Amino acid sequence: MIYLDYAATTPVDPRVVEKMLGFLGPDSCFANPASRSHRLGWQAEAAVESARKQVASLINADVREIVWTSGATESNNLAIKGGLAGLRKQGGELGERRHIVTSLTEHKAVLDCFESLESEGYEISYIRPDTSGVVTVDLLSQSIRKDTALVSIMHVNNETGVINPVMELGELVKRQGALFHVDAAQSAGKIPLDARTIQADLLSVCAHKIYGPKGVGALFVRRTSDFSVEPLIHGGGHERGMRPGTLASHQLVALGEAFAIAQASQRHEYEKLTELKTRFLRPLLLRDDVKVNGDLINSVPGIINLSFLNKDGQLLLAAMPDLAISSGSACTSANMAPSHVLKAMGVTDEAALGSLRFSFGRFTTEREVDQALTRLTTALDKL
Ligand SMILES: *Cc1c(COP(=O)(O)O)cnc(C)c1O
Repeated sequence: MIYLDYAATTPVDPRVVEKMLGFLGPDSCFANPASRSHRLGWQAEAAVESARKQVASLINADVREIVWTSGATESNNLAIKGGLAGLRKQGGELGERRHIVTSLTEHKAVLDCFESLESEGYEISYIRPDTSGVVTVDLLSQSIRKDTALVSIMHVNNETGVINPVMELGELVKRQGALFHVDAAQSAGKIPLDARTIQADLLSVCAHKIYGPKGVGALFVRRTSDFSVEPLIHGGGHERGMRPGTLASHQLVALGEAFAIAQASQRHEYEKLTELKTRFLRPLLLRDDVKVNGDLINSVPGIINLSFLNKDGQLLLAAMPDLAISSGSACTSANMAPSHVLKAMGVTDEAALGSLRFSFGRFTTEREVDQALTRLTTALDKL
């Protein structure tokens, strides 16, 4: 199999696996990081705090601004529901606001979270992006209001790779005094990401999109007296009361290591992926039955979303059984509904159903890209 589905998840980097193994077995640093009564506990705590530094460093945050979670889905829920609950609890003008804004191209972890808030009295505005998939400042300014409590916009889209102008968006959100949440699951470690300059109050990341294990992530919570995040679950007061439960030390050191490796190799990998993208796309762009969804320039190099004229995506997939690629996003490919992201960008149902996402990563080789290209062009010519 040729694995070209890095946007769905990545393998764990062998250096990260090695690190993780030091926190599992009987001779390892397996103790509970919350155990204060013995040295093994202190050692585990030191390792977890060192991982916190690695995560904070990648996004230019303070260690006290990092809250551990089980992944970006939980980070998004904690940011949005916990952030709004914090505002309500604190009261005042901000606590009275009941309008929230997001975009139609968000991950389901954000969209479903917003939907659940409707029954709690929140009014939602969904921004439709421009045809290249970007949420522009103009579009946000048409939706944001004086009573907007929170705005949630993703940094990089998981289906198209398109990059939103989060810095300019953050400026507008802060001018309105609302909370700004950014889902950065697809950008952390891949392109420069600075929680300070984008003025994020809340920012979600996870490990498994950047060569760490599944089931672990973090939420950046800006240190300020303006707002606080209420926990979604209760029990023990860990993570400064925002997220209780025994810390998954093996997962957390792995997340830290994955982020540290990404920080060191980000520029090099960006260049390598850009070369692979060009290598893959150059011959395809000469064909008149292939169309790129999104924006070739304003996107991360690892994600390429294509539509094929008069071709069924499922038949194409079936014609390339040794390629691990995605039709729509992995989360929605169980049902055959056209991708909500492509639909929001104005792509027709037919073209959306015929779309495929190729995503490259750290272990993708030129040879694999060439083979994928041959499989695809053969399948296109045959069907
Ligand atoms: C993968 C992903 C998520 C979900 O992250 P999990 O860690 O799998 O819960 C959320 N948002 C985006 C943009 C993603 O790509």
